[in-house]
Amino acid sequence: MVGRSHGRAVPFILLCAALPALAAAAPEPTAAAAATRGASSADLHSWEAGDDPGAFESWVRAHLQRADADIARLRAVKGARTLANTLRVYDDAFDQLLLATLQSSVMYGVGATTELRDKAQALTQTSNAALTALNLNHDVYAALAALPAPADPATRQYLEHTLLEYRLAGVDKDEATRAHIKALQDKITELGLAFERAVHDDVRTTLADPGQLDGLPADYLASHPADADGHVKITTDPPDGWPAQKFSNSAELRHKLYLAANSVAYPQNTDTLRGLLAKREELAHLLGYPSWADFAMADQMIGSPAKLTEYLGKIDVASREPGAREDAALLSFARQREPSLQKISAADFRYWQEQYRRAQFNFDSQSVRPYFPYEAVERGVIDTVSKLLHVQIRPVAGVRTWHPSVTSYDVFDGAQKLGRIYMDMHPRAGKDKWFSTQSLIYGARGRQLPEAALVCNFPGGTPGDPGLMQYGDVVVFLHEFGHLMHHVIAGHNPYSGEGGFQVEGDFIEAPSQMLEEFFHDYSVLSSFAHHYQSHEVLPRELYERMTRADTYGRASGQQRQLMYTAVSVDFHTLPPARLDFDAVYRRDFERYNTAAFVPGDHFWASFTHLNGYSSNYYTYVLDKVIALDFFAQFDPHNLLGGPAGMRYRQTVLAPGATKPAATLVRDFLGREPNLEAYRGWMLAEFASGATASSSAR
Ligand SMILES: [Zn+2]
Repeated sequence: MVGRSHGRAVPFILLCAALPALAAAAPEPTAAAAATRGASSADLHSWEAGDDPGAFESWVRAHLQRADADIARLRAVKGARTLANTLRVYDDAFDQLLLATLQSSVMYGVGATTELRDKAQALTQTSNAALTALNLNHDVYAALAALPAPADPATRQYLEHTLLEYRLAGVDKDEATRAHIKALQDKITELGLAFERAVHDDVRTTLADPGQLDGLPADYLASHPADADGHVKITTDPPDGWPAQKFSNSAELRHKLYLAANSVAYPQNTDTLRGLLAKREELAHLLGYPSWADFAMADQMIGSPAKLTEYLGKIDVASREPGAREDAALLSFARQREPSLQKISAADFRYWQEQYRRAQFNFDSQSVRPYFPYEAVERGVIDTVSKLLHVQIRPVAGVRTWHPSVTSYDVFDGAQKLGRIYMDMHPRAGKDKWFSTQSLIYGARGRQLPEAALVCNFPGGTPGDPGLMQYGDVVVFLHEFGHLMHHVIAGHNPYSGEGGFQVEGDFIEAPSQMLEEFFHDYSVLSSFAHHYQSHEVLPRELYERMTRADTYGRASGQQRQLMYTAVSVDFHTLPPARLDFDAVYRRDFERYNTAAFVPGDHFWASFTHLNGYSSNYYTYVLDKVIALDFFAQFDPHNLLGGPAGMRYRQTVLAPGATKPAATLVRDFLGREPNLEAYRGWMLAEFASGATASSSAR
């Protein structure tokens, strides 16, 4: 989904798993979050001024001005450069720009009114431009470069990494070139925002005949009555469109819904995307790189597209053959029902997977939805994460937020408050359409506490709707909480720029995907998966069938991840002027899918990762391997209670960006990561599948 990291050292929005509030109570008194800089709660929270775009603009501009003042102070230093008069002041300026950029960017996605979202979009542009200017400021670079090497390794890492990013950004170029770089960066931000906005604003509606809803669960039917003309409206919002695509017995409806979902922002995003890719290519060339992908990978763990190709080759070898076996089993199953079927249509893939799991594993995914009502899942995820990471997460009342549906929680370690989190969890008009974690405030020890928001589109949130979730939704919830805790726990280093999301971008999806695995443990699930009407605990036998069924499709799912990866790399490597989006997407689709491509599928037009992750969608693939290797370090018989949770918190999360990501990985594993756990995770299907076949029915 949707990322908005324009300055590439600033990944501020994190996306969910791969592709696939409250009214104005009195503002909270100035909390621990405000510290030595004298920031008040209103200073740190743009939304406390309400929905007025003018007030929001004043808030953002005040932070931009403070950043300017910090930069002036830094440049005015006479005499020896010290950490106190240079790095600290640089970090203060950076922090002010982060506040302005992050909160503009969040309000652009969640602001309550169109006017506010428009204003926030413009201010995201403005504050990103200020961040780019700081990254190209030669005086600031020279001041930082003049610092003696800090004795403390963490501070040394921060300084060295900052200087590296300055050089990669082009700070050494002459003034005219830097002005050109700046203009390109600003245009890239503008086009990226326009690309995502088109997706947020384009909700498509498909009209279904009631008979086409055969196969959908009763609560879905109850919330989708036919209108006066006898039609049922199904939108492309995930809680609406996804169940219908998966469960409807009507191939015609599934086809229509698939095309609607994969036409979002098409054709309007065609020119926007071409412009975005062209500006990125121009910038990469100006900085001496053969392509944007080379530029975007230069400061990442992977290092270069050439190294990525080598790595992906190993992933392809590991997943292609087992994926093909899964798909072949699916096709032969579908042919038992429809003997004339040559190939499964991509529009029907999820439907047939669901039917196959029912037949082969005796598991109907609708049967677990009543055990996953939204409210109970939220409490369950919070309790699970609290136990795992030894924190306490408590609701706070009376906190002013940006929408009445948003809830707030404080995170504690004993008496020590670690930060605040906000949950904006259900769809509404004009809101960001994906699932993401968005930082609002970077923490700095003794100065300010970290804050972040989950921005999701889960079922529920309306009176009378229990918000029954698909089990995949629960996995996504855990995923996003992994991001959230990374940000909160890493927000206690001395500098804001040492926060969790400042680590190499291609490590970002490891903590999130690691937490997904906790879904597969019965002691974890049974603690919260209680039937929304009878309150019965999820039966162990049902859990076992679900778990076996879930292992089916993992390898082919990884092949699909390789498809998204290929699209993201190809779009950022091939010359944009001649790039045929449909043709390249289709070629990559057919390279990694056995399902039949559906003509009219323009998925790329709403592939918002192309903005936030640009060429680096591979992050999900690389980090899946790391996440599974991490998870294998936990005691399977005592996942939450063993010592691994605290060790993980201390060695992987808490250091934030004070160490290179590869060091964090080695520190926890005691070795380099390898594919062993990843292969075992994919091949689990065959062992358990065999058991299921003999015992099912
Ligand atoms: Zn994620």
